Amino acid sequence: MACSNYSLIPRFILVILFIIFCTSTPGKSELCPLPPELASKLQFDTAAIESASTDYGNIVHNKPAAVFYPSSVQDISSLINASFTCSTPFGISTRGNGHSTYGQDMANNGVVVDMKGLREQKKGDGVVIISKNPLIADVGGEQLWIDVLNATTKEGVAPVSWTDYLELSVGGTLSNAGISGQTFRFGPQISNVYELDVVTGKGELVTCNPNNNSDLFYGVLGGLGQFGIITRASIVLAPAPKRVLWSQTLFSNFSDFTTAQENFIANNTLKPGDNNNGMIYLEGGLILDNGTPNTWRTFFFPPADLPKISSLVKQHGIIYSLEIARSYEDVTKKTVEKEMKQSIKGLSSMPEYSYQKDVSYVEFLTRVQITVLQNESHPWLNLLIPKSRISDFDSGVFRDIVLKRNITTGPVLFYPMFRNTWNNKTSAAIPDEDIFYTAGLLYTSGINDWQVYEDQNKAILEFCDKAGINVKQYLANHTTKEEWIQHFGSKWAEFEQRKALFDPKMILSPGQRIFNNN
Ligand code: FAD
Repeated sequence: MACSNYSLIPRFILVILFIIFCTSTPGKSELCPLPPELASKLQFDTAAIESASTDYGNIVHNKPAAVFYPSSVQDISSLINASFTCSTPFGISTRGNGHSTYGQDMANNGVVVDMKGLREQKKGDGVVIISKNPLIADVGGEQLWIDVLNATTKEGVAPVSWTDYLELSVGGTLSNAGISGQTFRFGPQISNVYELDVVTGKGELVTCNPNNNSDLFYGVLGGLGQFGIITRASIVLAPAPKRVLWSQTLFSNFSDFTTAQENFIANNTLKPGDNNNGMIYLEGGLILDNGTPNTWRTFFFPPADLPKISSLVKQHGIIYSLEIARSYEDVTKKTVEKEMKQSIKGLSSMPEYSYQKDVSYVEFLTRVQITVLQNESHPWLNLLIPKSRISDFDSGVFRDIVLKRNITTGPVLFYPMFRNTWNNKTSAAIPDEDIFYTAGLLYTSGINDWQVYEDQNKAILEFCDKAGINVKQYLANHTTKEEWIQHFGSKWAEFEQRKALFDPKMILSPGQRIFNNN
C-alpha cells in the first residue's frame, strides 16, 4: 500500500482500504474483519506512518499500512485476532519506544502497535507495587523504565537490574534481555521477572510464569517479540538505596583492566540476604583518541587532568576505563569511601587515575541522557564474547580494526557478566562460557555515512568468524533465517516450536526478519 498523505481522506475509507489491503492476495476474497471499535485507533496519516517507519538507528525505514494506538489490552487482543482469523493475516509489530537500530520494531505494509497509546491511557498508573513480601511491582509492558524508577522510588523501593538508559520500554527490554552494570550481580532484567501477561499471536491473553504456561513465559523473555505482546510484567524489587559512590579508574593495559573487572565481579556476587546495597555495578569501556570523550557517557575527570589523560591516550592508543559503584544508606559515608578506596587499590595499576563521585541513587540511574538529532544514524554493534577469547578480541578488533580505522565515535563498552545469572530456559542466545563480556560499539554517525560504520561492523564479525570466536550479537541485526539459526544455535529447535505454538501464522514482529522477510 502506497503511503502518501492520508490526512484528507475520511477515516472510514481508510479503514476499508486497509481491509482490502489485507486481502489483496489474488484468489482471496474474504475480508479481514476489523471490529468497528478498532477503527478509531488506527492511524494512516503521514506523521503516524513516518514515526513508525523510523527508529533510533535511522537506517531501516519500512512503512506500515497503519499505526495502531491501543487504549486497552483488549484492543491489542482484538487486533491480533483480526489478523489471525483473516485469510491473509497481516504482520503486526510492537513499538515499545522505538529504540531499535535496524527496524526490529517495524512492520512493512502491516500494522505497528504503538504502545504509547497504552502509556497515555494509563497516565502514570502503569506501575503498581503489589506485594511487600516479597517485594514485587506489576508494570505495564508499555511503561518506560524511567516511569518505573519514579513510581517505585517514591515508595522507597526499586528494581535491581537496569539498562543504562531508561527511556526504553519494559516490553522492549524484556524482549531482548536488558543488560547493564548490575547484570553481573543480579542478572539481566529477564532474570528478574516473576510473571507476565502476554497477548499471543492468536490474540489470546495468557498469564504465564515459571509454573504455569512456562513455555510461553520463557519463550517471551529474550524472545524478540516473536511469541506475543507483553502487556504486564511482575518484576523483582528491593529497598532502594539512597546514595551511590561511583568511581572511574583508568588502565593502559587490557589484561590489567579485564583482570580487575573479573576480580571485582567475583568478589561481589549476590549472596543470600544481600539486597540492593553494596558493590552493585561494574561497567568498562574504551577511551580512544578521537578528540574529547565524544560520548553521552559520563566521564568525571577534573578538567585539569584532561591534558594528561589525553596524552596517555595518545601514548597507548587505547585507554580502558573501569566504572564501579557502591550503593549505600545504612553505613556512614566514611566507611563506604574506605571500602571503595581499598577496592580500587586492589584493582588498579594506575590509582592516580581514579576519580569519584557521590550521587543520589536516582541521579546514578539517570546518568545517561541523550539528544537525538534528525540527521544522525546509529549503526550500533553489540556483541557478547566468551571470556576465553577476549584477548584475541582486543588485538583483532579493538587494536587492528577500531584503532586503525580511526572512525569510531560514541561510547565503546566492554564489561563482563556471569552466565549463571541468566536462565537458560529463556530465548536469549548467549555464549557458552561461565563468564562472557559485552562489547557495545555505540556509534553516532551522520545520515549519509553509516555505511562506513557498517563496513567496520562487517569486518569485526568477519574477523570473529575467521578467528573462531563464537560471539553472539545482542540486539541482533541478522537478515536471513540461516543467520538466525546460527544465532540461536542449540536453542533454535525450541524457538521454532514455540513460534508454531504461539504465533503459528507468523504475524508478530516481522521487523526482526526471523520467520519472514518483513
Ligand atoms: P522497541 O525498539 O520499540 O522494540 C524492540 C523489540 O521489542 C521489537 O522487536 C518489538 O517488536 C519488541 N517489543 C517492544 N515492546 C514489546 C512488548 N510489549 N511485547 C513484546 N515485544 C515488544 N539495551 C540494554 O539491554 N541495555 C542498555 O543499557 C541499553 N541502552 C540503550 C541506550 C540507548 C540510547 C538506546 C537507543 C538503546 C539502548 N538499549 C539498551 C537497547 C534497548 O534495550 C533496545 O533498543 C530495546 O529494543 C528497547 O527499546 P524500546 O523499548 O524502544 O523497544
